[in-house]
Amino acid sequence: MLTGKTALVTGSTSGIGLGIALAMARQGARVMLNGFGDVDGALAEVRAFDPQALHDGADMSKPEQIEAMVQRCERELGRLDILVNNAGIQHVAPIEKFPVERWDAIIAINLSSAFHGMRAALPGMKQRNWGRIINMASVHGLVASTEKCAYVAAKHGIVGLTKVAALENATTGVTVNAICPGWVLTPLVQKQVDARAAQDGVDQAEAKRRLLGEKQPSMQFTTPEQLAELALFLCSPAADNVRGVAWQVDGGWTAQ
Ligand code: NAD
Repeated sequence: MLTGKTALVTGSTSGIGLGIALAMARQGARVMLNGFGDVDGALAEVRAFDPQALHDGADMSKPEQIEAMVQRCERELGRLDILVNNAGIQHVAPIEKFPVERWDAIIAINLSSAFHGMRAALPGMKQRNWGRIINMASVHGLVASTEKCAYVAAKHGIVGLTKVAALENATTGVTVNAICPGWVLTPLVQKQVDARAAQDGVDQAEAKRRLLGEKQPSMQFTTPEQLAELALFLCSPAADNVRGVAWQVDGGWTAQ
């Protein structure tokens, strides 16, 4: 389905990004990974489907590195057709105790990086009159939770940015959409499970039940594989006219 297309997925050495990169490679796309941590492990997984998959170590808080990564993708993979702006971090604290450095990092990595990636990728996509930009927002792009000021601000920002980019390209073959997951059990959320277990003096299973119970009526985590299937749909011809949506996959979180 994606044979002949190329995809750059930011933050794809782990969690949701890795799930999306794997699904795109499985569908025949040439893939460029990005992110820190277990780069070799992620590359090995994706190379089972795209033997020539590449990794770029751009730091998504650095605009010039993001631009260089997009240029490298166009040069070494020949073009950039699908950009998934997924890299993200979290920090939890009330506003008056929120470290300024964490605020700056979250706004840079979770919001500004998508602007810089799009800025670099759009000219080529428009020239070829085909492109898919998928921004990984969150339910926190639509509603708030306490102690997540930077994350909620960044994710609300990315939903707005998605709409602007969708409108600016509405008459072209380039679509721009956001996905808004609720709880997905990745390393980013495992930290919050661990904190909850320590705070409440309960085991992992009970900490997970309490986190889900507060927000996610289905009482189930969404999986990276499920989000990857939605990303594939957004890349399909059936989604040619899906533009500027913020699509929840949240077990009913925002229906309440
Ligand atoms: P994760 O921690 O498993 O993965 C994050 C990825 O981003 C990793 O590959 C990491 O190396 C990369 N990364 C972090 N900082 C980076 C930087 N400065 N430069 C380049 N790469 C960097 O997290 P995840 O849960 O898979 O989150 C992926 C995205 O999904 C994030 O944008 C997150 O906000 C969003 N999201 C996650 C959940 C959830 O419940 N897990 C829910 C809603 C939205």
